[in-house]
Amino acid sequence: MAHLNPCELEIELFCRGIRLDPTCTLEQDARGFRRTRAGLGSGLELVIPGARKDVWCNVPVFEHFCATSPFLLKKEQGRYLVVDTRTDEAYPVRIPPEPAWYRRLTSRGHEMATIGVLQGTYLGVYISETCRFWDPGNDRHCHFCTSGLNVGQAEVLRKGVDEVVEVAQAAKEESGVTFFHLNAGYQREDRPEASRFHGLNLAAPYVKAIREQVGGFIGVQVAPVFPQDFWKYDWLMALGADHFSFCYEFHNPEYFARYCPGKCGSLGQKTFFAAMEYTAAKLGKGAVSGEIIAGIEPLADTLAAIEYITSVGAFPTVCIFRPLQGSLLEGHPSPDPEAMKRVFLHLWECTVKHGIPSDVIPNIQVSLVVQPGDTVYLGGNSWRERLYRGKMAALRILGKPYFSAKMRPRPVPVSAEEPPGPGFQFNPASPLRW
Ligand code: SF4
Repeated sequence: MAHLNPCELEIELFCRGIRLDPTCTLEQDARGFRRTRAGLGSGLELVIPGARKDVWCNVPVFEHFCATSPFLLKKEQGRYLVVDTRTDEAYPVRIPPEPAWYRRLTSRGHEMATIGVLQGTYLGVYISETCRFWDPGNDRHCHFCTSGLNVGQAEVLRKGVDEVVEVAQAAKEESGVTFFHLNAGYQREDRPEASRFHGLNLAAPYVKAIREQVGGFIGVQVAPVFPQDFWKYDWLMALGADHFSFCYEFHNPEYFARYCPGKCGSLGQKTFFAAMEYTAAKLGKGAVSGEIIAGIEPLADTLAAIEYITSVGAFPTVCIFRPLQGSLLEGHPSPDPEAMKRVFLHLWECTVKHGIPSDVIPNIQVSLVVQPGDTVYLGGNSWRERLYRGKMAALRILGKPYFSAKMRPRPVPVSAEEPPGPGFQFNPASPLRW
């Protein structure tokens, strides 16, 4: 077996997990294991150094398949190594330490890491109470998800806007965080008169407060609204949101219906597509992501999903399926790494073909997925790929004044409590967004 490049190693680790050698002293060296949000970040955060970029990876440790993993984490002379026991090859890795602010208390007395956690280098905050698909009597939750077991347990159930701001400030100042990701699962009431309870309304005060008091790039991930409510995306953009993500999970309609019964019954795939296309057209290439899971539906559907997402200008966020403990798919096998390498080579090719920016904004490394930027290691050296890499390098340099401006807090002259109503339009090029 040949030497694995950083992206190949990342894929192997996502698919096979890792075992921990007794030489490891992770209690002192690593971020604690925390099962928050949907549960994907419940593994070991590690960084695989590479010549083109370092790759962040949250490696499964507790799932059933990890016990037989060929990968063993060892500590030798103060350094961590991932040893592939099939070849005895040792890959040096870095274990990011737990930030000092994790265990500090907010002004309401909550440990900061129960409000938000780093998942790679960004701050993730689950802003709602549990996803409504976990409600007793309406239990149609997605089969791979464990958010209903985590929110209110490993993390605070009701997170005040003020304490989210405190945690975001600490993460920005002490950990150099540039991206704040707010997610909420499904919050819509299935009654038009109750639309004010939608997750986008719920996110509005958090977006405004972070924009006004912290600065940085702000992402929102909640279930999509129907086309008559698309003005709410404009409202969120006016309040300071830079990014929306749409987790439709499966491209194949049968798999979507089977494994996402709530999303299928209440929203339907087309609602995700329409909202993604609307926001991608508004915000420009790469500012919106389409999120799917690879390793359950047929490979051809995953490849088609990546082509579709990138063709509409969205960023392909592809999560390698992880059979989380406590999820309905706990017993499902973990994906075949070779199939996943084909998926991510295709992802690289589509990202290049459609010119989707990757790794342009400083310090946004997501450990839960194989990022498009990571797949640079799978690609070749054609003129088109060289041109793409050159463009990304130029954008990183030319964008510096913009990135610095975005990191500063600024006032937002739009209400987060009083939605402007249907017909509201926002021009993302407006200086209001800076
Ligand atoms: S919508 Fe599905 S994946 Fe998202 S939090 Fe709810 S159950 Fe989990």
